Amino acid sequence: MLARCYIERWPLRTAFVISRGARTEAEVVVVEVKLEGCVGIGECTPYARYGESPDSVVRQLEPLLSELAAGLKRSALASRLPAGPARNALDCALADWEARYNGETFYGPDSLPTVQTLVIDSPQAMAMAASEAVAAGVGVLKLKLDDRHVLERVAAVRAAAPGAQLVIDANEAWCSDNLVARCERLAELEVAMLEQPLPAGDDDFLATFTHPLPICADESCHTRTDLPRLKGRYEMINVKLDKTGGIGEAEALAEEAVRQGFEVMLGCMLCTSRAIRAAWPLGPRARYLDLDGPTWLAKDAEPPLRFTAGRVFWS
Ligand SMILES: [Mg+2]
Repeated sequence: MLARCYIERWPLRTAFVISRGARTEAEVVVVEVKLEGCVGIGECTPYARYGESPDSVVRQLEPLLSELAAGLKRSALASRLPAGPARNALDCALADWEARYNGETFYGPDSLPTVQTLVIDSPQAMAMAASEAVAAGVGVLKLKLDDRHVLERVAAVRAAAPGAQLVIDANEAWCSDNLVARCERLAELEVAMLEQPLPAGDDDFLATFTHPLPICADESCHTRTDLPRLKGRYEMINVKLDKTGGIGEAEALAEEAVRQGFEVMLGCMLCTSRAIRAAWPLGPRARYLDLDGPTWLAKDAEPPLRFTAGRVFWS
C-alpha cells in the first residue's frame, strides 16, 4: 500500500470567532492511501488547544505511512498512535479505501440535521445572523460565546429567533464564580444545552449544583477513558473523530456513553466535507449534530456535501 500525507489550507468565507480567538482558514492534514488502483482519503484537523499542529501531526504520521507499505493493518493503529487527529486521518483513509475496494455503496440516512453555528459578535450582529439562519430554515442555533456580554448576546438571539432551539458553546471560557446564576438565567431564556462552560480542569465544580439545563463535555471528553470522571458533572458528551482518533473509538465512545446514561452530541472541527462524510454513520445516535464545519469554507473539497435549511445532504 502506498501512502502519503500533506497539509491543506482552506480559506474561510468569514472569520470563525470563538472564545479562543479568530480563525480565517481551516488547516487540515490529509492522508491518501493507494493499493490495487483504489484510493482512500482521510482528513483531520489538528487543534492547538490539544498541543497539535499540522506539522506535529505530519511528523506523527510519517513513520506509520512507511509501515503501511510493509503491511501495517488498520486494526493495529490504536496501539501505534494516541487518540487524536493523526490516527483519525489514517483510520478514515483506510476505512475509505476498504469501502471503495469492496464496492460498498453508501447506506444510511441520505440527510442529517445539523445545528448552524453563530460565532462571537456583538449582540446585534448575532441576532441578525440568527434571524437570517432561521429565515433560511435552520431550527437549532449554536452560539459561540466568551465570558463577556453573555446574557445580552443570548437574549438578543432569543428575541430574534423565538422559535429556534438554542445551544451554547463557551469553549472553556467561563469561571465557576457566577456559573450557577448564569445557568439559571440561560434556562429561563430556554437555552436547551450548554457546552463546556469551564476549563476541563475545573470539571469538579459542575458536581456541586443541580443543572437547570444539560451540560455537555467537549474539551473534557476525548475517549471512553474520560467517561467515569464525567459522571455527575455532565449530562452529554460531544464525540469528534479528531479526539477519538477515528471511527472505531468514536462508535465505542458513543455506545458506552449512552450505556452510562449520557446523551451524545456529534461534533466536528473546521473541516471539509470529507471529515463529515467519515463521521456520517454516527449521526443517527446523536441528540445534537454539529456538522456545519464545511459551511464556513469559501470553497469545499469535492464532492461537497449540500447544506440547506438546517440539514446536510449526502449528495
Ligand atoms: Mg465545543
